[in-house]
Amino acid sequence: MFAQTTPLKLDSAHDLHAALFNAMTDGVLVVNRQGLIIDCNPAFHRRLGYRKDELTGRSVTTLDPPEFAAQVPRRLAEIEQQGQATFETAHYRKDGSVMPVELNARSFQVGSELVFFSVVRDISERKEMETRLHEGIETYEAAVNTTTLGFWMVDMDGCFLEVNAAYLKLSGYSRDEFLRLRIPDIEALEQPAETARHIAQIIRDGSDRFRSEHRRQDGSRWPVEVVTSFSRVQGGRFFVFIEDISERVVQEHRLQLAARVFDTMDQAVVVTDASNRIVSINPAAVRITGYTFDEVRGKDPSIFASGRHDRAFYDAMWASLHASRHWEGEIWDRRKDGTLYAKWLGINAIHDSQGALYQYVSVFSDITERKKTEELVWRQANFDALTGLPNRHLFYERLEQEIKKAGRTRQGIAVLFIDLDRFKEVNDSLGHAKGDALLAQAAGRIGAKVRESDTVARLGGDEFTVVLPNFGDRANLERIARELIMTLAEPYELGDDDRGYISASIGITLFPDDADNLDGLLKHADQAMYVAKAEGRNRFGYFTATMQREAREKAALAKDLRQALGRGELEVYYQPIVDMTDEVIVKAEALLRWYHPERGLVSPMVFIPLAEELGLIHEIGQWVFGQALAAVARWRDMHDRIIQVSVNRSPIQFEKPNQPCCTDELRRFDLPGHSITVEITEGSLLSQSKHIEQQLLEFRNAGIEVSIDDFGTGFSALSYLRRFDIDYLKIDRSFISDLAEDDANTALTEAIIVMAHKLGIQTIAEGVETERQRDLLRQFGCDYAQGYLYAPALQMDAFEQLLGAA
Ligand code: C2E
Ligand code: MG
Ligand code: MG
Repeated sequence: MFAQTTPLKLDSAHDLHAALFNAMTDGVLVVNRQGLIIDCNPAFHRRLGYRKDELTGRSVTTLDPPEFAAQVPRRLAEIEQQGQATFETAHYRKDGSVMPVELNARSFQVGSELVFFSVVRDISERKEMETRLHEGIETYEAAVNTTTLGFWMVDMDGCFLEVNAAYLKLSGYSRDEFLRLRIPDIEALEQPAETARHIAQIIRDGSDRFRSEHRRQDGSRWPVEVVTSFSRVQGGRFFVFIEDISERVVQEHRLQLAARVFDTMDQAVVVTDASNRIVSINPAAVRITGYTFDEVRGKDPSIFASGRHDRAFYDAMWASLHASRHWEGEIWDRRKDGTLYAKWLGINAIHDSQGALYQYVSVFSDITERKKTEELVWRQANFDALTGLPNRHLFYERLEQEIKKAGRTRQGIAVLFIDLDRFKEVNDSLGHAKGDALLAQAAGRIGAKVRESDTVARLGGDEFTVVLPNFGDRANLERIARELIMTLAEPYELGDDDRGYISASIGITLFPDDADNLDGLLKHADQAMYVAKAEGRNRFGYFTATMQREAREKAALAKDLRQALGRGELEVYYQPIVDMTDEVIVKAEALLRWYHPERGLVSPMVFIPLAEELGLIHEIGQWVFGQALAAVARWRDMHDRIIQVSVNRSPIQFEKPNQPCCTDELRRFDLPGHSITVEITEGSLLSQSKHIEQQLLEFRNAGIEVSIDDFGTGFSALSYLRRFDIDYLKIDRSFISDLAEDDANTALTEAIIVMAHKLGIQTIAEGVETERQRDLLRQFGCDYAQGYLYAPALQMDAFEQLLGAA
């Protein structure tokens, strides 16, 4: 076959062998038993860089690096023994470099000599490949095992074939555990179907980079970024690098949050660079300033300035920013539309880590509304809503200022205390709305009579004050007071054809003559006003020394009154009330007396108002009530009948709810409710106190009757009589005393009696002193009478004598 394809013309077998020997691409080496080179072919010596003659006769050991040279005798023996052997060794080239070779050696008997015939193959390339492969694997393993990234190798089925230490550490799995798992076991975000689709896509694209979440061994999830590539080696492999991005996700969230806060916060934020050019503003800033970001980008924030603040203001701001890196304060700026607004601004100078100025961050909010509210609150705290005048608070402040000023300038101040006369009646009859309208008009009239520099204030209710600094002389002051009285007495148009008629009483006090302090001035002006009222209203009066003395006396009396009850100085007198048909005593009015240890008998007209003022009336009233019940019980036991006792009840007593229950008292004496009548004034009914209705109901439920005292002197609103279920009207003494002389009063008295009867209410005439009065009253059909004609208020035993005599 060989002869056919390569027709060589050779003479002998020897020639053939020699030709083959020389043409072989593998080296051939022949050595004898001593290891001496007998022969070699060109492929051998050329590859080593020798000529043939340089090698023949040499020991092969001279060709080998020492570690191989040492093996030569053992190798030869091995070949001799086994007939052939294949092994790797190396030869030096002539240039000293080493050529790795694979030797396939056989031993032959040539004549008497044993020769070794080796085919020598240059394996440098293979060796290099091997080394490189080896190194490659090492590098790969080093990379995979030293990286902090997780690494897997995964097969086409998603089974893990390899995992590195980093991933095991991150996921908490042991290596054995993990290599039993597949991707769907640790993928926490994708559904298995999604994962399958994803894998298919990676196979198509060759690689992918994506975010997901993995499940740790303990079940917790962690965010990862995955870089994977696909290779078709070994039937398909995925090489996957996994990065733990927990930190990054937290950072990202933080940034997102910061961005969201920036975008959604109510407060405006303007950021400028080191040269104070705007680099960023948030939506709140856009909203407040009216500028868009594009309109202010790169501009100086002075674009927002209103021009309201001077150079010094901004200089101070910058000085603070430089010194403390911060400034905070209120500032007026102008919106794009030109409107002014107040803002509370905080500026921080931000420095980088090297301490160089980096940015200014300004944060502000629009406080215009708040300032308006503050202003409103201030107005509400200092001004009277109804009249727009300064209120008590501001009045005190102004008066205090004037006193200080006057102390310096040695000028006088007049304080006028104005109280409208009978204002309450206008209020009660026309309603609060019209009462308010009247007050507002009165305030206007007072203001019109004084100078700008004078203070007019409303202290509350129908009380006004005027402070007149440098009022000039007395004549001028009195002219003002008279004008005030005149103007306030003019009719008030209150709408719906309603007119209000009132007058005013004015008390005047002077600084520093009457008092040198605020409290003293006010107290004295008040006292002077009361005196003006007592002297007939519609007038003014100065504070006097007498007033001061009286005020002092009142204070002393008040002190004594506090102790009167405890000291047994109070006593209840009883004034009989007779049935007009037969003049038999059927009732009595309990009237209180105070025996003062030094002053003697003090009139209830004096001490009852004082007790009301001091709040003692509750205790005293309760005591009188108990005394009255005791008297009724006593007389019942003596005469076997009920003599009903009227007990006066002050309007003040209705103001205090939750008083001791009257039914308990009645039960204590085993008395029926009608043993007592409670006398109340019309004023009590009109007071509109929520307590009065409830307490009157309580009386009625207990069977206690109710009388209207001094009927006709107040504002007699008939509707109230029906509403409150009144039992008796006590016609005031002023009507009775005028009977006969005054036709109008006579007619009124008769009308009251008729009207009362129509409403099912009985009448009691007070202060009946003459027989003529009695006869007229009887003629009008009055039911009961009380007065000196029968008896004055009597001490218990005197009253009882009268009872016994009847
Ligand atoms: P009032 O309830 O209108 O009592 C009638 C007053 O007229 C009594 O004066 C009585 O003494 C007097 N009076 C009776 N008949 C005549 C008469 O024929 N002619 C004249 N000129 N006067 C007569 P008094 O006792 O000085 O009491 C004065 C006021 O003091 C009482 O007026 C009543 O409002 C009040 N008061 C008396 N005691 C009490 C009490 O215990 N509690 C309360 N809250 N007020 C009382
Ligand atoms: Mg009375
Ligand atoms: Mg009376």
